[in-house]
Amino acid sequence: MKDIKRILISENEIRDKVEVLGSQISKDYEGEEVVLICVLKGSVVFLADLIRNISIPITIDFLQVESYQGTKQMDTVKIIKDISENIQNKSVLIIEDIIDTGITLNIIIKHLKTKNPKDLKICALLDKEEGRIIDINIDYYGFKIPNKFVVGYGLDYNQRYRNLPYIGMLNNTA
Ligand code: IMP
Ligand code: MG
Repeated sequence: MKDIKRILISENEIRDKVEVLGSQISKDYEGEEVVLICVLKGSVVFLADLIRNISIPITIDFLQVESYQGTKQMDTVKIIKDISENIQNKSVLIIEDIIDTGITLNIIIKHLKTKNPKDLKICALLDKEEGRIIDINIDYYGFKIPNKFVVGYGLDYNQRYRNLPYIGMLNNTA
């Protein structure tokens, strides 16, 4: 793809990592049933691969927030689509593509806590630690990456590039 300057994480590296995360989650939640809550839209690819590496009973649900316009971050994060399942007294695992400032996840955590889950944990494929403004405890993460804008494997720039099977950095001209 000509718009991509550099591949940061290859398809194979992602596959291996998702496998490891899936078996770790299966082990940690053994004997329990867990609700995986996918944050739309960026995390769908990760969710789809991750659940096929989880061997315990799970259910999935979706939540959507509005936070980014292109690369520019807005001040407010709004929940524009809520989950549809009842998560009261259930173990919940939030599935995120990437955590940057932590602002988005902070809002999501606060929102889900009002629904009284038994347990609330976080699984993020990518962690941009340097960008953090709000401290977030990530229970499962795939890769720590530098504070650069990335696309692919679900992640977009103005809604494009979600279909790339790897994670890459864009050309400045793209
Ligand atoms: P945060 O609120 O700053 O932690 O941002 C989290 C959200 O911003 C993620 O769920 C992504 O949707 C988006 N985001 C942050 N960094 C990137 C990036 O490098 N590429 C694409 N989307 C990003
Ligand atoms: Mg996201």
